[in-house]
Amino acid sequence: MRADTQTPGQTADVTPAQVLAEAGRRRTIAVISHPDAGKSTLTEALALHSNALREAGHVHGKAGHAGVVSDWQDMEKQRGISISSAVLQLSHRDQVVNVVDTPGHADFSEDTYRALTAVDAVIMLIDAARGMEVQTRKLFAVCKERGLPVITVVNKWDRPGREALELLDEVESVTGLRPTPMTWPVGIAGDFRGLLERGTGAYVKYTKAPGGATRALEDRMNAQQAAEAEGVAWQQSVEEHELLSATGADHDEEEFLAFRTTPVYFTAAVANVGVGQVLDAIIDVAPAPHDQLDVAGRTQALTANFSAQVFKTQTGMNPAHRDRLAFARVQTGVFHRGMTVRDNRSGRPMVLKHVQTVFGADRSTVDVAWPGDVIGLVNARHVNVGDTLSEAGKIAYPPLPVFAPEHFRTVRPADLSFGKQFRQGLRELDAEGVVRVLTSDSRGDGEPVLSAVGVLQFDVVQHRMTHEYRSAVVFGELPFSTARIIDPADAPVVRGHRGTEVVSNAEGRFFALFTDEWRVRSFERDNPGVKLQELVVTS
Ligand code: GDP
Repeated sequence: MRADTQTPGQTADVTPAQVLAEAGRRRTIAVISHPDAGKSTLTEALALHSNALREAGHVHGKAGHAGVVSDWQDMEKQRGISISSAVLQLSHRDQVVNVVDTPGHADFSEDTYRALTAVDAVIMLIDAARGMEVQTRKLFAVCKERGLPVITVVNKWDRPGREALELLDEVESVTGLRPTPMTWPVGIAGDFRGLLERGTGAYVKYTKAPGGATRALEDRMNAQQAAEAEGVAWQQSVEEHELLSATGADHDEEEFLAFRTTPVYFTAAVANVGVGQVLDAIIDVAPAPHDQLDVAGRTQALTANFSAQVFKTQTGMNPAHRDRLAFARVQTGVFHRGMTVRDNRSGRPMVLKHVQTVFGADRSTVDVAWPGDVIGLVNARHVNVGDTLSEAGKIAYPPLPVFAPEHFRTVRPADLSFGKQFRQGLRELDAEGVVRVLTSDSRGDGEPVLSAVGVLQFDVVQHRMTHEYRSAVVFGELPFSTARIIDPADAPVVRGHRGTEVVSNAEGRFFALFTDEWRVRSFERDNPGVKLQELVVTS
């Protein structure tokens, strides 16, 4: 199992067997959904059904947790959204579940996508009445790209909605994954009586707990008792369950891990119904952290020395001293507070003394972390998104994927005498991955082009440029909505085409900007010799 690139070198008191045992106890997941499908409600219900160990940030700013006292919080408050990807750590059946938050606002940004690079499986939450909505589809595309196993949860089953079988058809046609229901509703949407557990054949009847918000009382019955209690509704559910088995729609762990099937659970998260089964699924069905391939294609075993990859940075949490947090997922080995690590890009040694799982008012220091855990490094100023941290600084995990931007703006300083701050600020925000800074060959250095996945990213740029770099900016609208990677040699051809613009990034990669997909297709028709390469995610 051990990587040939590293010596065992574990800290004296930790054995490889311990690393494997701790990694095996962990599940690191994210919940993806369209806004309003019930992600915060489900996350809170999962926490209620387990023991919340520690919490980074706040789930959604509405759970009554003391949040972050900073200008970030002001921005979050004004907008009622969560800007930060936070991590919630739960414990259930002696296992540890890390739930990496994916900010779910309609103006979601690259942070939402990047969170998916730090997890081993995903819960795709859909609204029973709305099915596969736009944002769910976009986030699913990232899961597909990365081959991340997907557990589907159909929520709001207590309300009038669509037929269960019709929803399964939609999931299958959009995702290409075969749905394998693990629970099956008894009673139609809106008249939710309970769930048939397909694995055990048991009926789990739910009664809303008095007062509503607490855990629903669970009443387990055998088939005979269920038939007596629910009559026709139970009979119908059993028939549908048998039909599912007859058509082979049963869970198979290998098929699930190979990204061919998706287990499906039904819930009414607001009433805590079906949530216990989802929590069990995270442990029984989702995979534990596994060995990783580095950028050179070498296997880095879980038991190798410590390594972690940064998937998010956040600055300005505390206006008094503008600290910066870098969130990294531990990939191999064990993290000990006080250890020295190096960044693969800069090679700089850093002593990791200030490492937290929690930011904001509830910070708590982390002494030890294992594969699958997420650590927040305080004031790791020179660490960027995508960087790998390891003891020798010699390991590099593949760079984070580039996500397809849909919004483009020009940017210039509000006051030209602040040109130096303006350039420095943009350079740093680009390196942090807050927004992409591009140079247009027709506009030149004086008027950079910014690209983003969500328009919220521009607000963050304005906020940070004004408060951190003292250079407020003025944005200019651009008509583009999509980009393609091009060979620099093809730039003149693209430039000659009406309604397009050629831009390049700091790494020297060239992009063609188009107003819409129709223009892309018309360009392709006119220029069959020019290769337009899609970025990872398209709508
Ligand atoms: P998010 O935007 O995905 O985080 O969604 P929220 O968790 O904030 O839920 C959006 C709305 O749907 C809230 O008013 C919830 O109370 C409601 N909701 C969430 N889950 C359920 C459910 O299972 N049944 C019903 N009826 N409402 C729900």
